[in-house]
Amino acid sequence: MKKIKNLTRFGLAALLTLSLGYSVHAQLPAASKIPAIPFGKIEIITTQITPHFYALTGSKGVDPGHPEGAGGRIGVFVGPEGIFMVDASYAPLSDKVMAAIRKISDAPIRFLVDTHEHPDHTGGNPNFAKLGALLFSREEVREDLIKPFPPAVAAVIGSAASDKDPARLPTVTYGSKGTVKIYLNGEVIDLIPVVTSHTNGDSMIKFEHEDVIMIGDFYRNYGYPFTDPTHGGTFKGIVSAVDTLLKIAGPNTKLLPGHGTVIQKKDLVLYRSMILDIQAKVQTMIGEGKTRPEVLAAKLTASYDVEVPGGITPLPAGLGTSADRFVGYMYDELKAAK
Ligand SMILES: [Zn+2]
Repeated sequence: MKKIKNLTRFGLAALLTLSLGYSVHAQLPAASKIPAIPFGKIEIITTQITPHFYALTGSKGVDPGHPEGAGGRIGVFVGPEGIFMVDASYAPLSDKVMAAIRKISDAPIRFLVDTHEHPDHTGGNPNFAKLGALLFSREEVREDLIKPFPPAVAAVIGSAASDKDPARLPTVTYGSKGTVKIYLNGEVIDLIPVVTSHTNGDSMIKFEHEDVIMIGDFYRNYGYPFTDPTHGGTFKGIVSAVDTLLKIAGPNTKLLPGHGTVIQKKDLVLYRSMILDIQAKVQTMIGEGKTRPEVLAAKLTASYDVEVPGGITPLPAGLGTSADRFVGYMYDELKAAK
C-alpha cells in the first residue's frame, strides 16, 4: 500500500491525539481546545466476568474521548500464585485501579500485558511495573512507547501517560507470529499476536479455562470501527482479525473489547458484514470518481446509525463524528491501495 500522505503530515501528534478519541483528518486542534480529562472524577467500576476474572472500567460521561467509559478496559485474572493484568488505562487512575484490585485479591501483581500502545491502555504501565508486574507486549508496542512525545503531543496527552519513565517499557516482547503461553493459577493464558488491524502491535489475550478473551480495540460497539492508520492500522486487517477471533472463540466465550460492552462470538457477525458493506459502497463511489467530501456527504452508515451508540454523536473539539471518521479512513485506505 502506498503511503497515506495526508495522514503522515500530522505524524505522531495525530496518532496520540486520535488514540484519545479524536480524528486525524480534521486539523489537529490546539491543545487548549481539547477538553482535559478530569481524572479526579473518574471512578473505577469492577465487574466479575467469571469465577477468577474481573473487568475494571472507568465511569461513564467523564472522559471526552470515551463517554461510554473512561480509559481502556482492564482485565484482572486472580489466583493464589498472583494476579495477571491486561492493560493499564491512564496513569493518573492507577491508585484507584489498585484499590479496586485489592478489594478482589491480596495476591501480588505478577504480569501485565498491553493489547496495544495507545495511552488509554498503557499509561499506567510504570505504576504497575513498580509494584512488581513483569510487562509483556508486542515488540511494535515497545518500539512505539520508547519514542518521546513531541511538545504538541505532550500538551494533548497531559498526565495520561509518561514518555520518560523507564518503567513504562515492557520487559518481555514477542513478534507477530506464534502464541506466547503463560501458565498461572492452573490457567493457560495465550498472548495471541493479531495481524495489523487497530494498530500494528495488537494482541488478543485468551484465558483458556475461564473462557474469556480480551480482544483490544479492533472491535468496538460504541462508535464505528476505528483503525489507527498512522500506526499501520487498516480495516482490511480488522476484518482479518475478526476472522481469527471467530476461529478461536467458542459460542459462549466472553469477549471483552477495550471499550464498550462485553460481547459473544455471534456479535462479530454483524460487525464484520457492516465493515464489508461500507467498504463495498465506498469502493463503488471511488470507482465513480467521487471525492472524499462527496463520499462523506453520502452518509453511507445511515442504515446502521440507530444500532451503533455514539456513531453520529459529535467527537470533542468539533472533530466530526465517529461515522465520518470510519467512512473517511475507509476512503483513504481504499484510495491508497489503488
Ligand atoms: Zn486504541
